Amino acid sequence: MSISHWKRSPVPMRAEPSDAVVIGAGITGLTAAYELAERGLSVTILERHTLGWGASSRNAGFLMRGVAESYARCCHEFGRETASRVWRWSEENLALLRDRYSITDLDSYQAIPSSIVAMSESEAEELRTSANMLEEDGFECTLQTSGDDTLWTNVKPEIALVNPNDAAINPWDLVNRLKDSLMRAHPDKVTLIENAEVTHFDPNGHPLTRSHAFLCKTVLVCTNAWASELLPSLGAQIEPNRGQMLALRAKGVTLDASYYLNRGSEYIRQTHDGTIILGGMRTLRETEEQTASDATTHALQSALDGYARKVLNTEIEVIARWAGTMGFSPTGLPIIAKANEHPGNIWFCGGLTGHGMSLGARTAKAAVESMQANKPSPFPVS
Ligand SMILES: Cc1cc2nc3c(=O)[nH]c(=O)nc-3n(C[C@H](O)[C@H](O)[C@H](O)COP(=O)(O)OP(=O)(O)OC[C@H]3O[C@@H](n4cnc5c(N)ncnc54)[C@H](O)[C@@H]3O)c2cc1C
Repeated sequence: MSISHWKRSPVPMRAEPSDAVVIGAGITGLTAAYELAERGLSVTILERHTLGWGASSRNAGFLMRGVAESYARCCHEFGRETASRVWRWSEENLALLRDRYSITDLDSYQAIPSSIVAMSESEAEELRTSANMLEEDGFECTLQTSGDDTLWTNVKPEIALVNPNDAAINPWDLVNRLKDSLMRAHPDKVTLIENAEVTHFDPNGHPLTRSHAFLCKTVLVCTNAWASELLPSLGAQIEPNRGQMLALRAKGVTLDASYYLNRGSEYIRQTHDGTIILGGMRTLRETEEQTASDATTHALQSALDGYARKVLNTEIEVIARWAGTMGFSPTGLPIIAKANEHPGNIWFCGGLTGHGMSLGARTAKAAVESMQANKPSPFPVS
């Protein structure tokens, strides 16, 4: 979305100053605001649309250990220490969501393993290597070679790597819980303003909306796939990628785990009431899906329908179709960085590459620590 010169022209009014402004009210922005408020800072959250409007309320709800690539590949590419750190972060993320935000109280919370499925011998070999390395590094996991639920019966994977301590949740419930917990814990420190699009920064690095200037000491940009709009240089590293999804009913289907197939290109799980949540096939039309649009397309939705029928091997009744946009980083690892392209103390946190449910809160904590200590991301950025 672009803003015309005419709407920017009036001199903005000064909003109530705060110590920090967080831009974007998704998982990252909300949990970062909590971290800032815990450290005694007053925080204003500015959201262009409404609470959780971006990927945070549109995703599949996997609370899954690790990132899209296998542990073996991550170790090979980034070194064992980095891979083990990001795996550890995802475990700490779930612990944080359970302990601070009490997500296990939510009706939609499921303590359910996630299962990374290999369909070819080469992928199976990679999962075996990953399992060995995970165990050596102290991460609990098992290798599964057979199963009797719907996926194992119809898809007949070579092997699956199971993360036994993962979970799943309705992401919209999670977003609301993050907001409620934040407001309950820090009612005097945090203000959330919806329908407040930050259009640019003033010469001192203060965020401006069409009507107001927000004076503050630090800014944290948590706008995910839209990062390049405010931070053209740093944000250009974040590639918008659309994910399309289905919710459906299918008689007689049981899924014993949340399944991750084709290196996360496809994902399927079952909620408490039996509804099947299925998404992905992004790699089928990769260029078309590199967009920040949240529109569904006929081609991709038809492919998802076909995939659902194949995996479930039964008639399906689709009850919802939607799309959301992820922010992919060049490495697939989170990005925490100071945006030196503007004056002032402006930071970015994001690029969670399809794993923001599983990494967002822990990454936001690290971002706030980095801002306070003025030190960059612990992960390779490109
Ligand atoms: C289809 C799909 C399935 C997924 N499945 C999973 C999953 O199962 N498990 C998992 O771990 N992750 C999953 N993800 C990824 C996860 O949803 C994201 O990584 C995570 O939600 C990112 O959170 P965020 O707060 O960084 O960004 P977002 O939730 O996208 O929030 C960014 C916010 O910034 C706002 N904004 C943008 N520009 C401005 C501006 N100029 N001014 C003010 N506000 C602005 C937006 O309106 C938006 O609300 C999935 C994503 C998608 C799209």
